[in-house]
Amino acid sequence: MMRKAVYPGSFDPITNGHLDVMARAQTLFDEVIVAIAADNTKSPLFTLDERLAMVQQAVKEQKIPVKVKVFNGLLVNYVAEEGACAIVRGLRAVSDFEFEFQLALMNRKINDQVETIFLMPRDTYTYLSSSIVKEIGRLGGPVSAFVPPHVETALKRRFETDNQSKK
Ligand code: ADP
Repeated sequence: MMRKAVYPGSFDPITNGHLDVMARAQTLFDEVIVAIAADNTKSPLFTLDERLAMVQQAVKEQKIPVKVKVFNGLLVNYVAEEGACAIVRGLRAVSDFEFEFQLALMNRKINDQVETIFLMPRDTYTYLSSSIVKEIGRLGGPVSAFVPPHVETALKRRFETDNQSKK
């Protein structure tokens, strides 16, 4: 039986922490689908197409053999549609735990055929999040240690245009 997993998220934008989790996940499963959430209440900085293109380029450049897709609606339904047996999530610090615990148990309540597994990134990425990267980018700080070069460029462009339109 082929073991598939889905690694869902907003990826707004993808960071080296996400890539670390993807690389680890792909050693455990026959197939890993990175699933970018189309329904997002978080009002993302990048459009769905931009986020998709950035993830695709990053996994291609780093030769991480995962599939990249977009999903709509309820995650557990999508996981079942894909015939996957697991959801992969990243755990950074205790602060992630409560939310992830709630999410995992709720997903299990909806479909108990699907397990959630948590992977911890390399220690240097434990403090890294898309939000902090956006905040540093917005303030004109260096993000090259946290994201692939094309994402750094995209962040610079986004905030340059923002700052120009404010002038
Ligand atoms: P979501 O909106 O679903 O939380 P994110 O793109 O922020 O989407 O995160 C997707 C998953 O990746 C989450 O499980 C999150 O905990 C994990 N993640 C994000 N950044 C890191 C990181 N630096 N190291 C490990 N896991 C991470």
